[in-house]
Amino acid sequence: MTVYFVGAGPGDAELITVKGARLLGEADLILYAGSLVNKDILVHAGKKTRIEDSAGLNLDEQVKMMAEALQEGKKVVRLHTGDPALYGAIQEQMDALQKQGIESIMVPGVSSYAAAAAAVGRELTLPEVSQTVIITRLAGRTPVPQKENLASLAAHRASMCIFLSVGMMDKVVTELQEEYPAETPVAVVEKASWPGERAIRGTLADIAQKVQEAGITKTAMILVGEFLGKEDYVPSRLYAAEFSHEYRKAQD
Ligand code: SAH
Repeated sequence: MTVYFVGAGPGDAELITVKGARLLGEADLILYAGSLVNKDILVHAGKKTRIEDSAGLNLDEQVKMMAEALQEGKKVVRLHTGDPALYGAIQEQMDALQKQGIESIMVPGVSSYAAAAAAVGRELTLPEVSQTVIITRLAGRTPVPQKENLASLAAHRASMCIFLSVGMMDKVVTELQEEYPAETPVAVVEKASWPGERAIRGTLADIAQKVQEAGITKTAMILVGEFLGKEDYVPSRLYAAEFSHEYRKAQD
């Protein structure tokens, strides 16, 4: 018996994998995270599929629902926003299912950090600007280990994608300013890839106010770093005419 943990992608119904869409079409039961998943994605579900929102269910209730459906011979998909492996709270589900002899298969999804980079049209890894992407969040009801506090991560001045934190913009800015200069570019992308997507650009100095004025309080990605603004980066060697590699010979 198997539950498929499928990444729904960030919102746009076309940003689910082919495999994920096929599984939605084959599923008898889809248990989806209604607070975050764009319901548009359910166009991929079969006509007779039972669709349940997990928002009002605790862990035991979710596991029970999935296990009962499997026992009736049904195909079960657990649908999570973005990529299930990031802030998906899926480990506890997979472990609880395993205790009942139920296997889990994860199907990756397009994470919202990738959709946010697409929304602002910037490469996260610009040569000689940043070759590292830090994915993190501020502590909320879920704590963050002290060794990973935002200020200490900011010390790398890498490209940052901050999840689950737009409701605490002042705190985000205060911690980042310990290490990044005030003029560091920041973009906040609300509902990346959804029909109502909004991108607010600014610097560490003014982004908190801009976000407040825009009234953005949730479902937003905070992107931080020079990658957002640098025009004078050194182009990658990969496509340079004089640069040979395994698949292409240099031109004179
Ligand atoms: N597994 C998801 C993240 C779930 S946590 C993923 O890979 O994207 C929920 C947080 O993700 C939100 O608070 C927000 O910070 C971010 N998020 C999810 N969907 C988003 C979207 N479409 N646009 C911007 N941020 C989004």
